[in-house]
Amino acid sequence: MNNKVSRRQFIKLSAGALGGVAAAEASGLGIANAATYTKPALLKSGKEVPSLCPYCSVGCGQIVTVADGKIIDIQGNYDSPINEGTLCPKGAATFQLAVNPLRETKAKIRKPGSDKWEDISLEAAMDRIAANFKETREKTFVEKVKIGDKDKLVNHTQGIFSLGGATIDDEWNYIHQKVMRAAGLVAIENQARI
Ligand code: SF4
Repeated sequence: MNNKVSRRQFIKLSAGALGGVAAAEASGLGIANAATYTKPALLKSGKEVPSLCPYCSVGCGQIVTVADGKIIDIQGNYDSPINEGTLCPKGAATFQLAVNPLRETKAKIRKPGSDKWEDISLEAAMDRIAANFKETREKTFVEKVKIGDKDKLVNHTQGIFSLGGATIDDEWNYIHQKVMRAAGLVAIENQARI
């Protein structure tokens, strides 16, 4: 099938579309009103709290639905001019960030020489990461490198790599980046790049 539209057909189609818009305006519906008219109801009912998706700088609007003091649903906000009710797959799963019985509350560790993973508390994991981070930075920090016959100030470490995760929100990413750069890291990445 030939999908090409000729110039004549294009003009006819455009005229038809404009006629449709004019008819909508004449009926009093208007484009804005037509959009409002088709706005679907939220899937769950409760107190509707306008919010923003925490995941990226597109800034899609969300409606957080609350009942009995608990979040029961999060959907795209149809009144947001950014996303008009839509959310990308990540934003559409925001509810699971807030309410998730499968959320991990412990970390795992495999000690040197061991062949098995063991549970440790998040506090213990944080303390261990902080101690390793400090020790590695102190061992690998480079203040100056020689370029030609000159010493160039670099103040960096190539001994630590920072990899962000998909559920890190905008604010955390911003602060994390600042902390890592201040510590002298140059290898900073995020697996949730879009
Ligand atoms: S992660 Fe998706 S839903 Fe959230 S702000 Fe970005 S584009 Fe919008």
